[in-house]
Amino acid sequence: MWDKTIFAHGSPITQQLQSLQVESVPKDQAHYAWLHSLPIAAAIFIRNSEGIKKLSANQKFETILTVDRCETSLNEAHYAALVEDLYQGKCESHFECWQSPDPVRPRELEINIAQFGEQGDLYLLTVLDRTAEGISRRNLRREMLSDSLTGFFNRSGFEEEVEREIAQMQLRDQAEQSISKYAIILIDLARFSRINESVGSIAGDELIITVASRLRSRIRCNEILGRLGGNEFALFLELDDESDTVERVADRLRQGLTEPCQLSGLEIQVECAFAAAVANVGTDDPSETVRFAQIALKRAKTSKCFELYSPGSDDNLRRRFSIETDLRRALKNGELDLHYQPLIDMKSGEINGFEALARWEHPDRGFISPIDFIPVAEESGLIVPLGRWALEEAAKTISAWDARGPANMPFKISVNMSAVQLVRDDVIDAVSSAINGAGINGDRLTIELTESAFVSDPEGAKKILDSLKALDTNLAMDDFGTGYSNLAYLQQLPIDVLKIDRSFVNGMLEDRDKRAIVRTVLSLARALGMKTTAEGIETIEISDALRKLGCTVGQGYLYAKPLTSEAAYSFLESSKASETC
Ligand code: C2E
Ligand code: CA
Ligand code: CA
Repeated sequence: MWDKTIFAHGSPITQQLQSLQVESVPKDQAHYAWLHSLPIAAAIFIRNSEGIKKLSANQKFETILTVDRCETSLNEAHYAALVEDLYQGKCESHFECWQSPDPVRPRELEINIAQFGEQGDLYLLTVLDRTAEGISRRNLRREMLSDSLTGFFNRSGFEEEVEREIAQMQLRDQAEQSISKYAIILIDLARFSRINESVGSIAGDELIITVASRLRSRIRCNEILGRLGGNEFALFLELDDESDTVERVADRLRQGLTEPCQLSGLEIQVECAFAAAVANVGTDDPSETVRFAQIALKRAKTSKCFELYSPGSDDNLRRRFSIETDLRRALKNGELDLHYQPLIDMKSGEINGFEALARWEHPDRGFISPIDFIPVAEESGLIVPLGRWALEEAAKTISAWDARGPANMPFKISVNMSAVQLVRDDVIDAVSSAINGAGINGDRLTIELTESAFVSDPEGAKKILDSLKALDTNLAMDDFGTGYSNLAYLQQLPIDVLKIDRSFVNGMLEDRDKRAIVRTVLSLARALGMKTTAEGIETIEISDALRKLGCTVGQGYLYAKPLTSEAAYSFLESSKASETC
């Protein structure tokens, strides 16, 4: 019955207690003198017809009582109550961890009670003061749960705090027979890694601190703010039943970030994506809610608008998963195809080459656009085999058309290469084995890369580009103007062609801004000795305008849509024939 933590077998205390197994309880204090030799606070209580009272205690126990008497509510009567509880069988264990309810003066005591004596009417109480340990444990925990830069909760702290808040809301709901709602708003700082890269991590930290303090100044006392990752913040809020509240709160936060931030002499305008998910207390899992908000955040990054998660977008996610499974199979079974869109020399009207574009005819779902499956391939890593397949297929097509057609048709084929492939694959090996496998010269291939390929590791990307140039291939910068062009850097790269994105070409005659961008890109390319290809030419007027502005090559539905290999070859042949006529 004695507590094992204190009464280690054969210890002097055990012997002392055994000596107390007497019929009548000795009343003289001398009998309990051994209590004073114990290294911890200890007291003996007796329970008889008069009630429970303290028989003897050592000095350490008295000190604890004195401290507690003036600071907290744990007095002698409380110890007696513990003894009574044990006697009544109300507490199963003899061990009690007592924490002061006073947060200013926290006190943590570990209390052990052991019953002994012939009639079982004696109780030895020992008390260990764990307050200091408790404080350091709580401090450590606070540190573990908070973000050192902003002082906000970190991811685990945020999750814990949200769960605590939701548990309280649930108790209130039970009492009021209602169902409360809450929202989690996510805020993502766009271009943060770019800012870090260009101004240094100290200024990057400064930016995070500035953003954090602006967010803090915009929240209400019952809202919880957290920093979930490098550039991602989260806000938890309880909702009343107005449906537009979330958007209004997001707007309130956004207002705090409209002014540019001043950082070590620089003025930085932060751009943030805002998204949220709403959930019911009691039925919805908070970590799911964060996940849903993250799905909406992904959308917000492209739409540049506040996005509220709606259940349908989860279907999209599921669709993505099934695309991944099917794409893996399609790659293995050769279900993908390359189509070829002619690239036309704007001055002569001759075929300059083709852009190879992946096509997937799904056996059940029909045509799936590369706009849908390329991002899935990039996320899943399937872009590596897909990219290699496209390179090999395009190189084989060049040698097949060369073998079929009259000699001296020096067309080139452009192949898109994802930035993800550049990082994940040995692209030099991929390109050289495609060239060697098909027995063609490197200069017949053009590799199209987007600006995103240079963002994370410009130095590494430059090395790869130099090696690709050493294989004699041509390099094109795709979708130019849509990314984060570092123009100073552009001139150090061995780029041959700038491809002006379709979004600038389309409608450029009516839109002065678009025209200005196209003109700037064309003069920039001229200054850097690069050629230019305009994407998405659909009308003769745009084609004329671009030619007059000095654009070298045109691509678009005006000339031809992407064609099957056979149709593209016929296009090539017929243009050759009309040239010779
Ligand atoms: P992109 O590289 O910008 O390719 C040009 C896109 O514009 C193609 O879309 C093409 O069909 C379309 N296009 C060309 N002319 C016109 C026009 O006059 N009007 C309109 N409305 N559209 C035009 P597509 O084939 O749907 O490809 C979409 C994107 O998918 C490509 O954009 C490229 O980023 C990616 N992609 C396609 N195939 C591959 C591939 O084999 N590998 C990689 N990594 N990406 C690919
Ligand atoms: Ca392209
Ligand atoms: Ca494009």
